[in-house]
Amino acid sequence: MDTIRNVVIMGSGCAGHTAALYTARANLSPLVLEGHEPGGQLSLTTLVENFPGFPEGIQGPELIANMRSQAERFGAEYRLAHVSAADLSTTPLSIQVGNQTIRTRTLIIASGASARWLGLPNEQALIGHGVSSCATCDGFFFSGKEIVVVGGGDSAMEEALFLTRFATKVTVVHRRDEFRASKIMLDRARSNPKIAFMTNTALTSYLGDPKSGGLKGARVVDTVTKKERDVTTGGIFLAIGHVPNTQLFVGQLDLDPKGYVVIHKLGSTLTKIPGVFACGDVQDSYYRQAVTAAGSGCMAAIDSERFLEAEGH
Ligand code: NAP
Repeated sequence: MDTIRNVVIMGSGCAGHTAALYTARANLSPLVLEGHEPGGQLSLTTLVENFPGFPEGIQGPELIANMRSQAERFGAEYRLAHVSAADLSTTPLSIQVGNQTIRTRTLIIASGASARWLGLPNEQALIGHGVSSCATCDGFFFSGKEIVVVGGGDSAMEEALFLTRFATKVTVVHRRDEFRASKIMLDRARSNPKIAFMTNTALTSYLGDPKSGGLKGARVVDTVTKKERDVTTGGIFLAIGHVPNTQLFVGQLDLDPKGYVVIHKLGSTLTKIPGVFACGDVQDSYYRQAVTAAGSGCMAAIDSERFLEAEGH
C-alpha cells in the first residue's frame, strides 16, 4: 500500500506555489500536481507591475519560476501531472492521476481559471489558425498583420498593448461602450497610436476555414443598431475573462452559479469538506490578482497545517 500524503496541491499558479512554500516550510512534504497549464495565468503574461516588491516590475514567467524554486528549496515536490478524478468522500481523500491513485489527508485546490471562449461555430477548429487567447504565446505569428482583440477589461488592454509590438494595427472590439479596464490600462491603450477601438460591437461568427488559409475575419454586430458587417483581420485574440477549473468537483463541493468554489467560513479557505481547501482564482471571482492569489495560497497552507495538527498528524 502506498503512503498517505499530508498535503496534495492541485495547480501550480501563484496560489499553488505559495501554498507549497508554506506547507513545505511546515515540514508537510507537499506534492504539487502542476496541471494542464503549469505556472497558471502568470506564465502567460508579460510585465507584472503590481506585485509588491518589484519596483520596476517583473516578467510573469520569471515571477512564477522564482516562486516555484523558492518552494522547491524547502522540499516541495512537483509533478507534471493532471488530476483526472478526485473522490472527496473518502478518508484519506483519493486523487486520480492517470493510473495512479494518490491518497492524501488534505487537498489544496489551486486549479485556477482558464481562458473563456466565445463558443461560436468553428472557434475551436480555428485555434492555432488565427484565433487565440494568449498574445504572449501567439503574438509573434501575427507580425505585420492587423489584429482584433475582443474584450473590455485589463486583459484586453494588456493584450492589445503587447500585440502592437507585432501588428500594424490592433482593434479592440468591445460589446459595450464602458470598460471594465482600470483607468491606467485604458489610458495607455487609448494613447497608443496603433490601437483603435470598436465599441458596442460583438462578434457573431468567424470568417475563414482552418483547412484553407485559416481566419480571414469576423462578422460583427452593432449591439445598439443591430446592424451586421464584416471585418477583415488576420488574427483574433479573445480576452473575455476566465472560467474556474472546477469540473472535477461538480456534485462534491458547493460551487456558485459561475462555477467558483464556495468558501464555507468567511475569511478562510475551508470548503464544505473537512481537509479540502481552495485558494486563488478557483474560488475568487472578485479580486483575481496575483497578490491576492498568493495571499489565499498562504491561508490554505495554514488552514491545512492546523487541520492536520487537530487530527493528530
Ligand atoms: P474581466 O475584467 O472580467 O473583463 C472581461 C471582459 O470581457 C469584459 O469587458 C466583458 O465585457 C468581456 N466579455 C466577457 N464575456 C464576453 C462575451 N461572451 N462576449 C464579449 N465580451 C465578453 O476579465 P480580465 O480582463 O481577464 O481581468 C480579470 C482580472 O485580472 C481583473 O481583476 C483585472 O483587473 C485583472 N488583470 C489585471 C491586469 C493588470 O493589472 N495589468 C492585467 C490583466 C488582468 P463586459 O464588460 O460587457 O462584461
